Amino acid sequence: MRKLLPFAVLAFFSTIASAQEVAKFKITILSTMVTDLKGVGEWGFSALVEADSTRILFDVGGRPNTVRDNAAELKVNLSGIRQVVLSHNHSDHTTGLGAIRQQFPDGVTASVLYIAAGFFVRTAAPAGMLKADSSAYVSSGGRFVVIDRPQKIGPGIYLTGPVPRRYPEKNYVAGRTLITPGGVVDDNVPEDMSMVVRTSRGLVVLTGCGHAGIVNTLEYIAQQFPGEKVVAVVGGMHLLEAKDEQLDWTANKLKTMGIQYFLGAHCTGLNSVYRIREVTGMTKENCLVGTVGTTFDIDQGIKTGWLR
Ligand SMILES: [Zn+2]
Ligand SMILES: [Zn+2]
Repeated sequence: MRKLLPFAVLAFFSTIASAQEVAKFKITILSTMVTDLKGVGEWGFSALVEADSTRILFDVGGRPNTVRDNAAELKVNLSGIRQVVLSHNHSDHTTGLGAIRQQFPDGVTASVLYIAAGFFVRTAAPAGMLKADSSAYVSSGGRFVVIDRPQKIGPGIYLTGPVPRRYPEKNYVAGRTLITPGGVVDDNVPEDMSMVVRTSRGLVVLTGCGHAGIVNTLEYIAQQFPGEKVVAVVGGMHLLEAKDEQLDWTANKLKTMGIQYFLGAHCTGLNSVYRIREVTGMTKENCLVGTVGTTFDIDQGIKTGWLR
């Protein structure tokens, strides 16, 4: 194993260093709490990622049919999207999988599922969460790909795998525990991972619930992509319970990093987005609450309906 390590490290860096970037890039939110002109809201998250010719579904929503129905209303065709990323194993991000598979039983749609190491750490999975013996998914032709470190999954598209918790951001629900061989520990959602896309204008980061902490996630990405800048952060960041001091600390970190777009959906929290807007000096054009149907395009920025 020791002898193999340098090869593994080399392989990873050569992948990152190949510096493929996407020219056309768009994220469309398909599930989040707030809705606008189209679709219905729910406690959950899902987004479609379109990077040149690659289409990836990132999380699949909290109720069986929300993503399927919102996609239809937004005229987003999910047929043939092979790759699905599950940011973590919480039911508000995983429940819609079955309905999508049933709607498109073509053997292709949602047939590859990316999950981070530790995804099946919870022995008692409540309804909606995926179970370690997801035999129905596998027997219907589905395949799991476990990501245990930063990895490329498409041209210019990467997953972080589990994120080291350098700062005690604790952006997860307090009081939930995990039974491990070492005893009972806080369920800090160890499998939480984010997506990174290298665009012509810089890196874009997409988070599900951001349980690893958005600053931990962004600093980890900065380490993995030396010399590159994150220009946009999109998704759920679980700041809804954060106190003003933590929000200000987070906002100042984002400001220092030079983030140009902040689209906070799902568990980011409404007040949190507006406080981050105020502290960073961003505006209602580039720091917004994500609604169902909101898009982020690398050339056109954030486009939303009536709500700002
Ligand atoms: Zn969660
Ligand atoms: Zn969530």
